[in-house]
Amino acid sequence: MVWTNYHCHCYLDDGDGKLQDYVEQALDRGFPALGFSCHAPLPFPCDWVLSEEGFSVYAKEVGALKERYASRLQIYLGLEVDYLRGLSGPAHPAIRARGLDYTIGSVHFLDDPASGAHNEIDGSPEGYARCLASSFGGDIRAMVREYYRLVREMAAQSPPEIIGHLDVIKKNNPGERYFSESEAWYREEVGRTLEAVAASGAILEVNTGGLARRKTDSVYPSPWILTESAALGIPTTISSDAHDPKQIAFHFDEAL
Ligand SMILES: [Zn+2]
Ligand SMILES: [Zn+2]
Repeated sequence: MVWTNYHCHCYLDDGDGKLQDYVEQALDRGFPALGFSCHAPLPFPCDWVLSEEGFSVYAKEVGALKERYASRLQIYLGLEVDYLRGLSGPAHPAIRARGLDYTIGSVHFLDDPASGAHNEIDGSPEGYARCLASSFGGDIRAMVREYYRLVREMAAQSPPEIIGHLDVIKKNNPGERYFSESEAWYREEVGRTLEAVAASGAILEVNTGGLARRKTDSVYPSPWILTESAALGIPTTISSDAHDPKQIAFHFDEAL
């Protein structure tokens, strides 16, 4: 099987390893192409994204690797961009001005309607529970619906080339602690979201990052969602959301 990976973090954001180490791993495994996708700088303080200074270093290093390995590996400069309602998204002019080859669009934050605080939903279980209690009055359906509404908004208004970990809202739902993926309301939300993704023309990633970090027991999105996505003809790519060069093709056979 010929693999590629367009979702890689590094020492400049919340990952480990040098960009060069990723290139070597990719060459060892016979990849024809590799994309880097560090977390884009955010318009508020956050310790797991690139700083503006970090972005300059990142773009320069990826540019140098592109040149050095031009005959052996296609290397792409990307960013994993948060969709933040009214603030930023993959198609925001400030992102488009960065000279990228592509973007991955992801939703990692749900804003508190009252305070405007940015709650991380794929961070700690405690943070997820706090968001649920303080911003959604304990109503898990309201919280999950808001998550998928944001993904649909991103697909329609600020579409990326690749939609990141479509159902990452399940990360802090181990053993279906808060909701069941077989419930009709959940299936309907996901179905509407897949329609928005199909209309956007974006590629849906099969992301093995949850498996790599033992946070989930299946890929993002869940296999039943991939069946529906295939029926809609949505193009798909497999990525590992690698935070370490050794994870570059982690669980790809299983994902396939
Ligand atoms: Zn992400
Ligand atoms: Zn990522």
